[in-house]
Amino acid sequence: MRIGFGTDLHVLRVGEGLMLGGVPVPCGYAFEAHSDGDVVLHALVDAMLGCAGLGDIGEKYPPSAIRKGESSTRFVTETLALLGKAGLALVNVDCVIDLEVVKLGDTKKVIRASLASLLGLDAACVNVKAKTAEGVGAVGEGRAVSAQAAVLAMRVAPGEGE
Ligand code: MG
Repeated sequence: MRIGFGTDLHVLRVGEGLMLGGVPVPCGYAFEAHSDGDVVLHALVDAMLGCAGLGDIGEKYPPSAIRKGESSTRFVTETLALLGKAGLALVNVDCVIDLEVVKLGDTKKVIRASLASLLGLDAACVNVKAKTAEGVGAVGEGRAVSAQAAVLAMRVAPGEGE
């Protein structure tokens, strides 16, 4: 068994919506980012890379390797393929979204389904939590949104080259 952990934060600007876990969330803000700024997927990719000992998202996807505004789902599907090559299969995923500017409510369930679909997991193996920051700090003051993700993976085959 291997665990991985990842975090991300992006600054907000005035805009027409946030992409969270591959799900568009309409609101008066947008992410300041080179990609779509999806903090949930970025934290998830770092957790996935972490469980396989494969470094971090900044090494795999420097700004020069990202098209402006592109969907972060590509990073997830490519990283999933890397885990497959490493002989690892995801078991479950848990994540936290820290945001003050919009109430997610039932959107959490949509994000859960989106992550499950992206990862090829049953929705029961994916959990999405949302928290506010009690009005303090960059998240609490509505200047940023952050996310954390933890994944568990198990070895199902020898990794390539092992
Ligand atoms: Mg990011």
